Amino acid sequence: SAAERTSIDDVRKSLPVFKFREQFLEAVKENPVLIVVGETGSGKTTQLPQYLHEAGYSEGGKKMIGCTQPRRVAATSVATRVAQEMDSKLGQEVGYTIRFEDKSSDKTIIKYLTDGMLLREFLNDPELSHYGALMIDEAHERTLSTEVLLSLLKDIVRARPDLKLIIASATINATKFSEFFDKAPILNIPGRRFPVNIHYTKNPEANYIQAAITTIFQIHLTQPLPGDILVFLTGQEEIETMEGSLNEAVAKLGSSIQPLHICSIYANLPQELQSKIFEPTPPNSRKVVLATNIAETSITIDGIAYVIDPGYVKQNVYNPLTGMESLVVVPCSRASADQRAGRAGRIGPGKCFRLYTKWSFYNELELNPVPEILRVNLISVILLLLSLGINDLINFDFMDPPSNDTIIKALELLYALGALNSKGQLTKLGRKMNEFPLDPMFSKCILTSSKYGCSEEILTIIAMLGESGTLFYRPKDKREQADKKRETFNHELGDHFSLLKVWQDWEATDYSNLWCEDNFIQYKTLKRAKNVREQLARLSKRVGVESEIDKTSKEVPPLMIQKSIVSGFFPNIVRLSRMGDSYRKLKQNYACFIHPSSSLYPVKPPPRMILYHELVLTSKEFMRNVMVVDEKLVKEFGSHYYSIKDLESATNKVKK
Ligand code: ADP
Ligand code: MG
Repeated sequence: SAAERTSIDDVRKSLPVFKFREQFLEAVKENPVLIVVGETGSGKTTQLPQYLHEAGYSEGGKKMIGCTQPRRVAATSVATRVAQEMDSKLGQEVGYTIRFEDKSSDKTIIKYLTDGMLLREFLNDPELSHYGALMIDEAHERTLSTEVLLSLLKDIVRARPDLKLIIASATINATKFSEFFDKAPILNIPGRRFPVNIHYTKNPEANYIQAAITTIFQIHLTQPLPGDILVFLTGQEEIETMEGSLNEAVAKLGSSIQPLHICSIYANLPQELQSKIFEPTPPNSRKVVLATNIAETSITIDGIAYVIDPGYVKQNVYNPLTGMESLVVVPCSRASADQRAGRAGRIGPGKCFRLYTKWSFYNELELNPVPEILRVNLISVILLLLSLGINDLINFDFMDPPSNDTIIKALELLYALGALNSKGQLTKLGRKMNEFPLDPMFSKCILTSSKYGCSEEILTIIAMLGESGTLFYRPKDKREQADKKRETFNHELGDHFSLLKVWQDWEATDYSNLWCEDNFIQYKTLKRAKNVREQLARLSKRVGVESEIDKTSKEVPPLMIQKSIVSGFFPNIVRLSRMGDSYRKLKQNYACFIHPSSSLYPVKPPPRMILYHELVLTSKEFMRNVMVVDEKLVKEFGSHYYSIKDLESATNKVKK
């Protein structure tokens, strides 16, 4: 309506960036690269792409304005908002592209996309000629994809003077970007920020979830309304646990307290639930938002006056010595903690409750987060760079070069997967692997499965692995029943096969919702897996896996499926230790344990050899999603990986 329009326009004009509109456009006109630094919530992500469009960088619709986000949720949520602001339907003038989901069209002028997806666009269009301007947003997050993008774009802006590059960052690290881009100018946008009072705990908290819950009620009972609460947690599981406990407590207290509205935001939150965090809090009540570090800088929730910060973050950490990558909860950095606190000071003076001691803050937290490129496995990125013809990886212009060890480990693995030949050149197989927006270990499984006549099954397993974390649920009052149902899917060969069984049974009901309810399985999760699977099937067809996929398959021997999975995941094979209490990677002495959620937990006697899908480090190093393998398979696929001699020469050649 007209009233809504006026109000949206008013909000746009009230954002701190609006006062800098002309200055911003002037600086863009004068410089190929501009760094924009501004407080979270000042309007960078939603407004700057619109300004660029309004100033004509979209060339009347001939070119796009692209804006990258490290997180899928941020890309979709911001695109939704900007479509509203531009009074257009999402997917038309304003769209987004995230992995396995493209909501953009020929009409799209402003496109939000994940940094990983823009990186993949280089494969088809190495000059990114569809774009008139690009904004690399949230650059301070230093994700792997963003950093590789910056290196590639540095070259492109030299070759394409018509392309404008904007690098947007929260208030940390900005000078580093400027230096990397030959002293590009920095435009500072002062945000509105009220003082935030910081409280520490006197003693370390043994259980920060419990401490956070207590703090929520203390705030709610003693602090005035309005003023919403934002809690930083490490992931979906933690958020769901806490949501459960909170709802229970609120139900018990009933009408003795003012209403508390609990909502959450994390990477895998289904889109239809995301908008809840932006709904205005009704009068005389309080909103509690349980968030991952998404809410640190990438998404701004209005109305927050209190922040509760346990001081942790979940990260992928790769160890080049063991070649193992693991999800780990680690203390966040001081820079992150300060960003988190800042979320409390947007509407007025705020308070931040840190659930750790002041001593910890100064002595145990790192100053800045470690850039992802220095702590994760690089095979996807290196395969992509090699496909772009960038062979001299050691001298590639990284902002913070990864260690040679990490690069060499990645090259070794790519060689073992058959993506590189012994001269370090990309093979036909390597090129095919790159067609999939997946880790090369997955693409290898798909390509192998074609040979063994089990592509259907492998595509299912891969799609299901991606969603396995949210597949089953256990209602409080029906736990036993739910667990019993779940057991009926357990397969003696492990979780890969259990997931396959879930899918096949669901498929046999013609994808019934009722069947899901009966089995305590999330229908929405299966629908997502179905969508991913369809897209993978399409890509498989394109690279010639098609014949097998169209074949109406009879029962496929499990061995064929195991072979296909081992062909990609042989580095993740572990052997039962002599004591029989844990698993060790071949030639390593690092103990791993089967995760309690696995269908092989606890299986007696324990299988002698298994393959894991991922490692999660909590109290121990746990393997999530494991499959039984046997010695013969390892010999067939993996042995060369552990004993290879040519490898040295392969990596030396790539090193030059
Ligand atoms: P920045 O990128 O500088 O952190 P943004 O452009 O993301 O700032 O946010 C500007 C304003 O737009 C904020 O007040 C934020 O709350 C609002 N906003 C952003 N996304 C949405 C959304 N999906 N729904 C409602 N409001 C939103
Ligand atoms: Mg932003």
